[in-house]
Amino acid sequence: MNCTICNKPVVLRPSAAERAAADVTGKSAAYYTSLFTTHAACAVAKRERETSELIARNAELKAAAEAKLGFKLHPNVVFCCMPR
Ligand SMILES: [Zn+2]
Repeated sequence: MNCTICNKPVVLRPSAAERAAADVTGKSAAYYTSLFTTHAACAVAKRERETSELIARNAELKAAAEAKLGFKLHPNVVFCCMPR
């Protein structure tokens, strides 16, 4: 199967067939293929991007809230949404 992030093939080592052959519980090659839907590096890079976006979004929301409130909020204050 292809990586759901970069769309390039995910190549398993050992292969899905080799893993299935060694599996005493009878899990199929398809099972092993279904377990690995992304490259590890792609998953880590995606998580980093999403985290950066979340931090930037929080900074935007916090700045907007501070402008609305007219004072600075504590550095530990984190937003998941804009206060009313
Ligand atoms: Zn990938």
